[in-house]
Amino acid sequence: MTRVAFIGLGNMGGGMAANQAKAGREVRAFDLSAAALDKAAAAGCAKTASVAEAVTGADAIVTMLPAGPHVRSVYAEQILPNAPKSALLIDCSTIDVESARAVAAQAKAAGFRFADAPVSGGTAAADAGALAFMVGCDEADFAAVEDIIGPMSRVTLRAGDHGAGQAAKICNNMVLGISMIGVCEALALAEKLGLDPVKFHEISSQSSGQCWSLTSYCPWPGPVPTAPSNRNYEGGFATAMMLKDLKLAQEAAAKAGASTPLGATAEGLYALYDRLGGGGRDFSAILELLRGKAP
Ligand code: NAD
Repeated sequence: MTRVAFIGLGNMGGGMAANQAKAGREVRAFDLSAAALDKAAAAGCAKTASVAEAVTGADAIVTMLPAGPHVRSVYAEQILPNAPKSALLIDCSTIDVESARAVAAQAKAAGFRFADAPVSGGTAAADAGALAFMVGCDEADFAAVEDIIGPMSRVTLRAGDHGAGQAAKICNNMVLGISMIGVCEALALAEKLGLDPVKFHEISSQSSGQCWSLTSYCPWPGPVPTAPSNRNYEGGFATAMMLKDLKLAQEAAAKAGASTPLGATAEGLYALYDRLGGGGRDFSAILELLRGKAP
């Protein structure tokens, strides 16, 4: 039986680890939070007392941690010194490209195979095993990575070599942040012009303004029943998370010398909404800021 060590059992990792167990794999789980560990145990994972214990004898190790510094320290201090060299290392956290490449280089130098494999899709997709994975790894390792990711995934695409998965993730989310603000501005303007925003949605969805933020995740309540706009912007993808990803994109752009003026503006607007208290609301709630409403 394939033995998978799973480190980081939070909002995303909890459901992902549960899907590994559901697929019949032996999952040895660790998190700093006792509550997260108990939840994983209830979902069929074995609790362990440390990263070192979780990774001992593992065929694959999956990490789902908050940010770059956590990933750097957990790999350098706990995974690389304790895991068998044959273990396949897969980091699914969203982190900066530089950290992903640094950890990959350290892992390879120590004789491991490593992949950065950030995900698109929120906690519902994590629970349903329906995430999209964007993978940066050596081409020869991709089939093995795909096999481990399988029970957690709707689609798995190789973006390129190490760091390319993270690059794809932050570029994708920069498009998403910018397009959501564009859709919200248009809806707020339609309202001011006396055009029913729901009618505008119907027209633009079938015209050249069509995009995912409008047709699948409409920020105006009504047209898309599953969108968080119908639940007072609760659940979904938090403004604070979008802000984190836009910051990563801006840091990467500054280092690479890329011009991303709309990405910078989107970061500024989400930072403002976060400071006003909107950090916990779905990112489509930025519509309210543009309509002059407090969170
Ligand atoms: P979370 O804060 O709920 O979970 C992170 C978990 O890591 C926590 O349970 C924490 O206790 C654990 N942890 C931290 N340091 C640790 C350590 N040293 N050893 C073991 N466990 C440790 O966060 P999340 O929402 O699950 O997000 C995880 C990652 O996924 C982030 O990088 C995030 O950007 C990315 N992501 C999140 C979403 C989403 O909708 N929540 C969507 C896509 C990607």
